[in-house]
Amino acid sequence: MRKKIAAANWKMNLRYEQGEVLLDRILGQHIDLANHQQVVFAVPFPYLGMAKSKVANRNNYTIAAQNCHDKASGAYTGEVSAEMIQSIGVGYVVLGHSERREYFHETNEMLASKIDLAISNGLTPIFCCGEALSIREADKQNSFVETQLKESLFHLDSENIAKLIIAYEPIWAIGTGKTATSTQAQDMHKHIRSVFAAKYGHEVANQISILYGGSVNGKNAEELFNQPDVDGGLVGGASLKVDEFSLIIKALR
Ligand code: PEP
Repeated sequence: MRKKIAAANWKMNLRYEQGEVLLDRILGQHIDLANHQQVVFAVPFPYLGMAKSKVANRNNYTIAAQNCHDKASGAYTGEVSAEMIQSIGVGYVVLGHSERREYFHETNEMLASKIDLAISNGLTPIFCCGEALSIREADKQNSFVETQLKESLFHLDSENIAKLIIAYEPIWAIGTGKTATSTQAQDMHKHIRSVFAAKYGHEVANQISILYGGSVNGKNAEELFNQPDVDGGLVGGASLKVDEFSLIIKALR
């Protein structure tokens, strides 16, 4: 059974001590996870060590970095490599978030290198894809997302592709309060799975968790997560609120 995942993306929010309190409060809800369920906190780099120690003895609660560089090491002042993340015992990394694509000009090709470095260092990438509003309005979202997947991921073999977590995040729904309907989410997730199935076969495609991201909250999570191809969510704003994120965790199937 593929994993059902609630992933928190804190982005560039919270002071250190606020992050500590937020984690303590969420973990203090004592929401036990089944074997196939997982909670991931993608926190800012300086908080990774702290967050890792907070979840240390909590089953299926884990930590992710929000990015890594597309080169292995070297003269890239201010950057953080996949190897550095691995070396502090963090096992996940979010790659290709639309904010990184837009503000830091990350291309599908750069993301292919980041994916390779993450995988070769034993990290699990949470790979984000998704279309802008203009693409959705032109009804080109399926081919747009397909190209993102093909250009960044399709050089991988079946063994490695099966390790990925995908997050479909329509840009028009991120931080806007405008959630995709559960039908829109299911249609795209089904499409994404079919794209993987066409290249790698159904068995592999069925192992890949596909999360939905875009204004998920405590109220809409259950309906979204109940869709057959929606395996959880990548959550921004609502992940900073104890009650909201706790409801989202509880909505995992
Ligand atoms: C995100 O940051 O990935 C996201 C989906 O944000 P929000 O939940 O705030 O829309």
